[in-house]
Amino acid sequence: MQYVPFGNHGFDVSRLGFGCMRLPTRKNGEKTVIDREAAIAMIRRGIDGGISYIDTAYPYHDGESEIVTGLALKDGYRERVTLTTKLPVWAVNEEKDMNRLLDEQLKKLDVPYVDFYLLHALDKDRIAKMRAFHYQDFFRQAIADGRVKHAGFSFHDDRQTFLDILGDWDQWGMAQIQYNYLDDQDQATEAGLIEAGKRGVPIVVMEPLRGGALANPPLNVKQMMDAHPSHRSAVEWAFAYIANYPQVATILSGMSTEEQLTDNLQVFDRVTVGGLTADEQAFTAQLKQAYLSRMPVKCTGCRYCQPCPQNVHIPTIFEAYNQAKMFDQPDRFTRRYNDLQKKNQDASQCVQCGACESACPQHLPIIDWLQKIGREAP
Ligand code: SF4
Ligand code: SF4
Repeated sequence: MQYVPFGNHGFDVSRLGFGCMRLPTRKNGEKTVIDREAAIAMIRRGIDGGISYIDTAYPYHDGESEIVTGLALKDGYRERVTLTTKLPVWAVNEEKDMNRLLDEQLKKLDVPYVDFYLLHALDKDRIAKMRAFHYQDFFRQAIADGRVKHAGFSFHDDRQTFLDILGDWDQWGMAQIQYNYLDDQDQATEAGLIEAGKRGVPIVVMEPLRGGALANPPLNVKQMMDAHPSHRSAVEWAFAYIANYPQVATILSGMSTEEQLTDNLQVFDRVTVGGLTADEQAFTAQLKQAYLSRMPVKCTGCRYCQPCPQNVHIPTIFEAYNQAKMFDQPDRFTRRYNDLQKKNQDASQCVQCGACESACPQHLPIIDWLQKIGREAP
């Protein structure tokens, strides 16, 4: 396991971080709850195996993640890790909610302070809301009274918004972004990641495996990997790509099983900053192209076709369809399409008025695609 300085904070962090959003679960009557015994054992084995960064958040596992994370960090484990949780920005309705929520979270975690407290899932609207609630004053106070060591944010929006948030405050202690070799031009993007590095804001990466999808590549991608002389697994290619960036402090993996933990720990013995050769970097670009070539509908998600007078959610339908084909996982489409069907937003609502096709800058034959997808739908 490689350890790197966490920005300029004066301590090091393991490149593998434990994300506590997909802990092992069990059924309790109708409810799905965390299998606490298994989860606590896993988190502790991860720390014993070298992990020194633990990430949780208010909504994970319907609020149970923070409690179980706190239990796992008893018996001397808390002192061995950097602990992060996140303010549920959507639950803040007035300024004093920020203090109330932080106190509630510290109580659930049963700790006097967290190392990093993040504004959770910031986007354009949410940063505007937090500005109005004077988030910087809240952080200054929480840092001064010792409940928080460093402030940060996690992020889901576009590059410009990421740069705007970075520029909104010179005291950000870290930024958590979605990043992997498919998403280098999405959300914060590679350029945003590099800019954060220039400003001295260390990056924590989430979704390195795209929700697990990159761990199970379709046949053509797997054949490419098998033929490559580096003989890295699909999981290792994904982690090695991100670990290569010096701007990235740690990479979160939301592990659910002991096998994943064992595999991740082994992989992180082999991935390092600058660890990819030029040939391997070029190969990850080829992997991305191999995935993208599996996308049947060349929809960019620009949304110029919206709103449709019949309320057909065209970009969502195309995205769900593309993702299913890209990863060879039909379930990814079925689940989202069923949701759209329930809300009468699926392809069958289309009356072929043509308004969307005139608006589409990609000149996609949207109606034909909707008919085809509608025929394939469950
Ligand atoms: S053609 Fe169909 S999907 Fe496109 S705008 Fe008209 S009703 Fe909506
Ligand atoms: S306008 Fe075209 S490219 Fe843009 S979201 Fe709609 S279908 Fe996709």
